[in-house]
Amino acid sequence: MPLSETLPGPAPAERMSRVKESPSSQVADRVRAFRAEGRKVLPLTIGEPDFDTPDHVKDAAIAAIRAGETKYTSANGTPALQKAITSRLLRKTGQSYATDEICVGGGAKQLIFLAFMATLDEGDEVIVPAPYWVSYPDMVSVNGGRPVIVGTTAGEGYKLTPDRLRAAITERTKWVVLNTPNNPTGAVYGEEELRGLTDVVRAHPHLSILCDEIYDEINFGARPVPSAVTVAPDLRERVFLVNGVSKAYAMTGWRIGYGAGAARLCAALGTLQSQSSSCPSSVSQAAAVAALDGGREFIDRTVAIYTERRDLLVSGLDAIDGLRPAVPEGGFYVWTDASALTGAVTPSGTRMTSDADLAEHFLETSGVVVITGDSYGCPGHFRASFALSSDTIREAVAGLAHSVSLLRR
Ligand code: PMP
Repeated sequence: MPLSETLPGPAPAERMSRVKESPSSQVADRVRAFRAEGRKVLPLTIGEPDFDTPDHVKDAAIAAIRAGETKYTSANGTPALQKAITSRLLRKTGQSYATDEICVGGGAKQLIFLAFMATLDEGDEVIVPAPYWVSYPDMVSVNGGRPVIVGTTAGEGYKLTPDRLRAAITERTKWVVLNTPNNPTGAVYGEEELRGLTDVVRAHPHLSILCDEIYDEINFGARPVPSAVTVAPDLRERVFLVNGVSKAYAMTGWRIGYGAGAARLCAALGTLQSQSSSCPSSVSQAAAVAALDGGREFIDRTVAIYTERRDLLVSGLDAIDGLRPAVPEGGFYVWTDASALTGAVTPSGTRMTSDADLAEHFLETSGVVVITGDSYGCPGHFRASFALSSDTIREAVAGLAHSVSLLRR
């Protein structure tokens, strides 16, 4: 009998077998255990900005509390937040969204989950290019869909190509997920690349694009980051843009994300929210208005800092024989090819046969924690975050150099 069937309490539904705990939470447990032993840990696993939320955003939240903005709001957000979102989208994409084409939720994560819940019938397919953000496949599966993982290569910049997309489409395909800038690779799709993909989507009317642009303000190249809706405005109803305030404004704990797309989809998400959370937090919504309307000073300042840290981490990893980092164009992660270390042996004779072996070796020998490539559907790699101080990054790079130097190849 499986262990879960012997435990007390209500038995989990069958769908729970299709979802697992996020790898970042598992790693966090491992780090806690390591620290409890009094050992030093350098967590290159951080998935959120290490900056504090800007003061003008906090002030707006406090003012909202004092003004009594502490009640339920409409399921898809307050008029003030919807207006701030439509203005931001107009600035970014040149598209005017009506308020019924906007939805607001408890983070981009919740909106992506609800979008799948609202649209997937049993067996519907969602194309997910790998490496992918860890949550997409589970979100699809738990909502009855089938994730169709499509690999990409370093030579293609870890980006989905029109040919690979075309080959993966079946009559059951409902969505293709495009995450730009990408977590974990930092890849940003250029206009031409998006045009190639939207041409394929245009030819398949049953297919829509879920465009996760949560890292779009943290980018090191041309701004704004190109969007599928900018290159193919005629597909507007078939593109669901997802974004939020978590990463750009260091507001991960406030839990506000937003989506823009077909009014029919936004209405469905509103219905699901009205029957689950009722609405996102009223106070956080007031804070998000201040963030979106508050100018670019915070973003420009933090992106300059991220740029220095990125260069530090990329050059540090690049100098280690056996590691090949990809230079991220956006986000705050460095995706690193470590496949040259597969099969290498530690001084005590342990052979590196999996990503987990290598991650454990790093942790044991230098306290550095990374997230393994197989978590993102791409073994032989790891993700290292640079949402950390430059000193921590330097120390972690030195630690990794030491750990790798111990391996015999
Ligand atoms: N998409 C991606 C690619 C992410 O990395 C994250 C956060 N880790 C999210 C969405 C969720 O962001 P939010 O805090 O708005 O739920």
